[in-house]
Amino acid sequence: MSERVLICGAGVAGSIAAFYLGKADFQVTVVERSKAEQKAGQGIEIEEPALSVVKHMGILDTLKSIKTAEEGTDFVDQYSRSYGLYKTGGPSPTGELELMRGDLTEVLYKAADAHPNVTYLFETTVQSLKQTQDKVIVDLENRSTRTTKTEEFDLVVGADGVKSRTRQLAMGSPEELNCFKAVGAFVAYFSIPKQDQDWPYSRLCHFPGRKVLWMRPVSKASDVTSVYFIHVNKDVPALRRASAAGDRMKQKEAWAEVYSGLGWEVPRVIEQMMKAENFYSDELMQVKLKKWSQDRVVLVGDAAWAPTPFTGEGNQLAIIGAFVLAQQLSRNRTPAAFDVYEERLRSYVEDAQNIPLGGYAPYVLVPQTSWGVWLFRTLIYVGSWIVRFMAWTRTPDSSGGEHKEFDLQIEKVETKKAR
Ligand SMILES: Cc1cc2nc3c(=O)[nH]c(=O)nc-3n(C[C@H](O)[C@H](O)[C@H](O)COP(=O)(O)OP(=O)(O)OC[C@H]3O[C@@H](n4cnc5c(N)ncnc54)[C@H](O)[C@@H]3O)c2cc1C
Repeated sequence: MSERVLICGAGVAGSIAAFYLGKADFQVTVVERSKAEQKAGQGIEIEEPALSVVKHMGILDTLKSIKTAEEGTDFVDQYSRSYGLYKTGGPSPTGELELMRGDLTEVLYKAADAHPNVTYLFETTVQSLKQTQDKVIVDLENRSTRTTKTEEFDLVVGADGVKSRTRQLAMGSPEELNCFKAVGAFVAYFSIPKQDQDWPYSRLCHFPGRKVLWMRPVSKASDVTSVYFIHVNKDVPALRRASAAGDRMKQKEAWAEVYSGLGWEVPRVIEQMMKAENFYSDELMQVKLKKWSQDRVVLVGDAAWAPTPFTGEGNQLAIIGAFVLAQQLSRNRTPAAFDVYEERLRSYVEDAQNIPLGGYAPYVLVPQTSWGVWLFRTLIYVGSWIVRFMAWTRTPDSSGGEHKEFDLQIEKVETKKAR
């Protein structure tokens, strides 16, 4: 009989692992706490080497057909005046393949679910987990029916994000593991009704006090716009309290307070934020673990190494990590594969976790004082002309930026049972 694998979390990492483990003839069960139709999150991007994985999965054309098609990023001041337009195709915060997270996870889920070896259980979570010498005994709870069933698996993959329950059950609490490293910033993302000015560029406005409002188009046809609040601050007690209590209304009120009195689109955004259903807010934290596995349980993606959006690597690492994990398991169908997976990825991940500018990127990119904001705008303005000049002289990297190199050994991925 094929080995049974439980994957906790149907995000990016979970569904890519499911896709490849199903192909490698594992019997895969994926549990996801949300509903199947729930599409959560705003814009994320895919670039090389992660792009090679989605190409290899055969879903690149589908993804291209649903990309946000944002045409670039426009830096604006509080009077909506542009001081630096960075179009796609050159250095720009807008990547070549920008997708709404919910659209991406839906495509990945459908690709994995099409395989007869893969079963998805939505609105289901892991309640408890016990490891014996050769099995993992797991209580799975259906959150809508409140029923629990006990099942046995050979291996468990925790792909359940920064606050991973799998990690907690298999390895200990974040406090015990000391695995959360705060980067000193809070973020909120949500959607609001679109207006004409929201298309075709994403628009980004800085305010003194280390505050940013970033508005990103979803698509020309969409009737919503993505919004990000980014506030660089080691501690905002009201936000921290509201997050700890999981109280969304209090989180919204705290954000409204932090941004109150600011100009540009802030009043419109705050008004709509109070009604937004897909509102998400948290303190940005990296996950740093000494080891990514414990006996028969292994972690992948944000659960193992969340790097935070300041690195721009979260989605990339989730895709590459899930691929490498499944690749190693297809070669050696035992927990020994976890060590090789970690050996191959550890230094690449640690490098990707480095926050740019020696860790000071949040402070440099989101200045405190009016003078700092002025200096930032001047640099962006000068930079936008340099980029235009480079485009004119045709010297830039046309892929839109540098990619961290990683040998996926993609041609060697085994899709048949290796016994
Ligand atoms: C709701 C949401 C919105 C996001 N929005 C953005 C965004 O707008 N921009 C951005 O850059 N990044 C966003 N991210 C983060 C981004 O998706 C990840 O950094 C990256 O894609 C790595 O993905 P991952 O699969 O490792 O983890 P995640 O994307 O966090 O996926 C984890 C999955 O596990 C599920 N899960 C969690 N706990 C349990 C549990 N106990 N039982 C079962 N399932 C569980 C979650 O519902 C989720 O589907 C978001 C993440 C989430 C969960």
